[in-house]
Amino acid sequence: MKSYDTVVVGAGVTGLTAAWRLAEAGQDVLVLEARDRVGGRLRTEDHNGSDFEIGGQWVSPDQEALIALLDELGLATYSRFRDGDSLYVDRTRTARRFTGEDLPVEEQTGKEIDRLIGVIDDLAAQMDPDRPWEHPQAAELDRVSFAQWLDAQTTDDEARDNIALYLGPAMLTKPTHSFSALTAVLMSASAGSFSHLVDADFILDKRVVGGLASVPAALAARLGDRVRLSADVTHVAWDDEGAVVTVDGEQVGARNVVLALPPTHVRRIRITPGLPAEHRHAREHQSFGLVIKAQVEYDTPFWRSAGLSGTGFGPWELVHEVYDNTLHGKETGTLVGFVSDVNADAMGRLPADERRAAILQSLAAYFGDAALTPRTYVESDWQHQELTGGAYATSFDVGSLTRWGAKLHEPVGPIRFGSSDVAGLGFQHVDGAVRMGTRLARNILGS
Ligand code: FAD
Repeated sequence: MKSYDTVVVGAGVTGLTAAWRLAEAGQDVLVLEARDRVGGRLRTEDHNGSDFEIGGQWVSPDQEALIALLDELGLATYSRFRDGDSLYVDRTRTARRFTGEDLPVEEQTGKEIDRLIGVIDDLAAQMDPDRPWEHPQAAELDRVSFAQWLDAQTTDDEARDNIALYLGPAMLTKPTHSFSALTAVLMSASAGSFSHLVDADFILDKRVVGGLASVPAALAARLGDRVRLSADVTHVAWDDEGAVVTVDGEQVGARNVVLALPPTHVRRIRITPGLPAEHRHAREHQSFGLVIKAQVEYDTPFWRSAGLSGTGFGPWELVHEVYDNTLHGKETGTLVGFVSDVNADAMGRLPADERRAAILQSLAAYFGDAALTPRTYVESDWQHQELTGGAYATSFDVGSLTRWGAKLHEPVGPIRFGSSDVAGLGFQHVDGAVRMGTRLARNILGS
């Protein structure tokens, strides 16, 4: 049986970053990836002659670990198109133009939105995102859903629904009654502040030339034949000396094992002896959010000639947010819109042509009938892929972050765990995957 210093399971950004740092330090590493490609939740696909980023794509200025890695790999970035007016679709489905960050709502509602942003900013400033369970109000914030917490904060429905939009549909992609107020504060603290999350120019700042999937591709190229594809790990047997990893009936030995998977997917692997009960409970209380990312390419970016940036928000719209997603150097124009949580459930029940029609109709509420006739329409479908199962990422149900959050970081014998979904800074983002991969490698080298 061939043996390695470290076997990394999963060739997403977490696993590849860990493996590359270990290889650089002189370790003999092997990466086992179940899919026939690297990248996990990062992928670029060609449709009708254009590239579409199906998974993660944006980079924001707080994502310093990812930005440093892009630099190290020699990958360039470009800015998202954002010149012109943004749109806000109100309850009556009227699209109203605005500039800057202040939504075109009644003055009192605008002030209430700003006040609520301030309250969440203050809570986030008191949190170490690596230890959210140590927040001074952790117990109180984790025992209520974000929806309940928001209801108690304000009587202004429009202010409430807009704040809910930023953290529910737009970020955790779950209904706001299904995650705790503490998780909402974690999401904010992980990006530096809630103010960063509500600022689309900040949080959706840059894209990578060639796509964000160039990051795992470049790391995998450096690792060369240390990455094995179509290698679905089914069993890890361990003791204090090391582990035996089973893949396609073959066994490989390892002094260390890294399971660089979303917590939900650790459960797909048989581990013997079994994980301690609390480690299992922790992962049983994690689940994926759900979002449909719809990218719609037109012959021209027609909204630009009307003085529109392509950015739009509609807390009551099927497509709750939309942006100009035109590819670097392309003459066609592309919009990207998102349909989240319960709306994504409803859309998932429709035949593909009806779903497409409903999503285009919602885009037309922002941009008029010109939005109804694209040249290419592409939906990302992660929920039907067994090796992911949702989008963007996993998070805890109400009450579980304080109860089991710390367990997700504890090694068990020679096995370590990590993914963007358990990161502090960069939580649920590629930056978090880079940070987790780097930390896992450092911990192994230091042990
Ligand atoms: P993953 O990418 O999920 O990697 C895990 C890997 O493990 C996968 O390749 C999987 O196939 C493999 N695997 C699972 N089980 C096994 C097994 N038993 N054996 C072997 N291999 C196994 N982030 C941003 O920063 N910016 C964005 O704009 C953004 N937008 C997003 C949009 C969408 C639609 C989605 C889905 C995600 C988005 N994200 C974004 C999130 C980002 O893509 C993820 O946070 C990040 O890619 C996760 O990396 P990871 O390595 O932790 O996990």
